[in-house]
Amino acid sequence: MKVVTTIKEISNIITSLKSSQKTIGLTPTMGALHEGHISLITKASSENDFSIVTIFINPTQFDKKEDLDNYPSTLDADIKLVENTGCDLIFTPNASEMYANNIDVESFSFDGLENEMEGKHRANHFDGVGTIVKKFFEITQPTKAYFGEKDFQQLQIIKKMTVKNQLPIEIIGCPIFREKDGLAMSSRNTRLSKKQRESAPFIFKTLTKASQLFQSDSIATINSWIQTEFDSNPDLDLEYFEIANEQTLQTASSKSESTKYRAFIAVYAGKIRLIDNISLQ
Ligand code: AMP
Repeated sequence: MKVVTTIKEISNIITSLKSSQKTIGLTPTMGALHEGHISLITKASSENDFSIVTIFINPTQFDKKEDLDNYPSTLDADIKLVENTGCDLIFTPNASEMYANNIDVESFSFDGLENEMEGKHRANHFDGVGTIVKKFFEITQPTKAYFGEKDFQQLQIIKKMTVKNQLPIEIIGCPIFREKDGLAMSSRNTRLSKKQRESAPFIFKTLTKASQLFQSDSIATINSWIQTEFDSNPDLDLEYFEIANEQTLQTASSKSESTKYRAFIAVYAGKIRLIDNISLQ
């Protein structure tokens, strides 16, 4: 497995792969890898001739400098973890390699997907995501690219970007990997205090209960039940809970038989922001 840091090096490799018509699987990450990431990378390696992981903490998708500054970086451990996945190449450029001297962010329209949930709470987040993913797509020219349902809105946005720009890339959504107690795996989990870590499984517990209530109760009833649950939890602050149409991501206030719904949640444990979601089908 190769580790490369420059666009020039990786471009030479891509040119040679393309000339021999190899399929390329891409898994973009920000590092501090865990089993969730590894599941994506393993799938990419098994479904393609050549598997690439990018490790890059993208400054333009952070709305808070503090969050960017505190984002965990564990490159040596990441490389060791990736070694057992069948991955062929890690591309881990620095910020000046990706953005040269100007941190330019493209402005995207994802047909409104970007204005819902995370878009309301994290200014310019999806322009930052779109900018960096587009750059990685241009550099690596993947046949398939792998994204987790953990960031379901991001997954839908990347699918939209691919369709709107007619990119010849298949976007593969992968299921959420969880700790044994249900907490969705996240690089941010390593920053939780012992007490916060003990409280955090409450997020998935309430999501699971909400999905059971969805079978019999109205959306308004579920929304107010969730609010009450979090009001009585001193360790976790609810930022938002929404039941939304899985395709449009628009907030649902009533149910229709023919629509797929998903519940989305964002919670603060102290300064650490955690997100999760669950299918309601
Ligand atoms: P990140 O490094 O957090 O930007 O994540 C890189 C990719 O891994 C994204 O497509 C995420 O959705 C995915 N991912 C992160 N956590 C998980 C998880 N617990 N289960 C599945 N995929 C995940």
